[in-house]
Amino acid sequence: VGHDYPARLARASDACAGAGIAGLVVTPSADLVYLVGYDAVLLERLTALVVPANADAVLIVPELERPRATTTPAGELVSIETWPDGGDPYELVRRILAGTGAGETGEVAVSDHMFAAHLLNLQRALPGPGFIPGSTVLSDLRARKEPGEIELLRRAARSADETFGKVTALGLSGKRELDVAASLDQSLVATGHDQALFHIVGSGPNAASPHHDSGDRRIQAGEMVVMDFGGRLEGYCSDVTRTVSVGEPDAEAMEVHAIVREAQEAAFAAVRPGVPGEEVDRVARRVITQAGYGDAFIHRTGHGIGLDEHEDPYIVEGNEEPLEQGMCFSIEPGVYLQGRFGVRIEDIVTVTEDGAESLNNAPRELLVVE
Ligand code: ZN
Ligand code: ZN
Ligand code: ZN
Repeated sequence: VGHDYPARLARASDACAGAGIAGLVVTPSADLVYLVGYDAVLLERLTALVVPANADAVLIVPELERPRATTTPAGELVSIETWPDGGDPYELVRRILAGTGAGETGEVAVSDHMFAAHLLNLQRALPGPGFIPGSTVLSDLRARKEPGEIELLRRAARSADETFGKVTALGLSGKRELDVAASLDQSLVATGHDQALFHIVGSGPNAASPHHDSGDRRIQAGEMVVMDFGGRLEGYCSDVTRTVSVGEPDAEAMEVHAIVREAQEAAFAAVRPGVPGEEVDRVARRVITQAGYGDAFIHRTGHGIGLDEHEDPYIVEGNEEPLEQGMCFSIEPGVYLQGRFGVRIEDIVTVTEDGAESLNNAPRELLVVE
């Protein structure tokens, strides 16, 4: 899949100029992968892409990292400046920004995931107008996915759906949560992911903890099991949740599952360009609240996804930003009854010209497994 790095770099530089920002300093993170395709290790030695407003970007790397950096797309895209152990890379950042005439006048945007130690050193080297989060420049760009990015998210979602089918077909009864988690990890890789990133397997009362860490507990007949998992495929993340019943569910479990499913469908139907993120959250919450379980829906409805598992846009009360075509995010309402059970259903969706497309399509009805 082709990534249009030159266009992304140009848009980032233009966004800085438009906002009166001196430039952007990006340390190893999804931001760096997004802009120049360099998946660098986050270390105490500074690696930083400096994107000045109205000037060409420069990649600063420790001398010993040059051979690695030049073999990535960054090697073709930007000039690379190295610094030796014992040198001062922060002074180098200052010189690059000052060379454009912008360094002394505008704020500097830095990666949200930059080490505090690097930022403290930058503040010393550039005592001028101050620093702002890089997301103020980049999150807008990253949130609107290019068709090639959506295709990678779609492939990752398909592999996650396939994984759900394979693992539930093996049966869950009598297995430990950890065993099921290991099967999820293996199947994600077997069906196309480069790596598994996380797995939540919550059985019985553990399913009432949305971020339960899979453990030793053995899954028993008559329990609900929340399975929430994902991985990375060519840089892009998957994230899907289904809740299954091991053996026949009781009436309340069936009822709660039906409510969550209705909330998830209603939220999906509400997605289209121009609708604020918070409205999608409200639609899901209204269904669950009207059914009497509002207090048990204890998290936002969703999060953006792409090179990061969680990124803008967030589907949460207070996000008034209108959705735009190409945005990708989760819709994952849930109900959690402490000490008893929980239900969550999650799909990744993308905003289309006049609605939404679900990238996940594993069955959403309450599956009864062995
Ligand atoms: Zn979560
Ligand atoms: Zn999830
Ligand atoms: Zn999620």
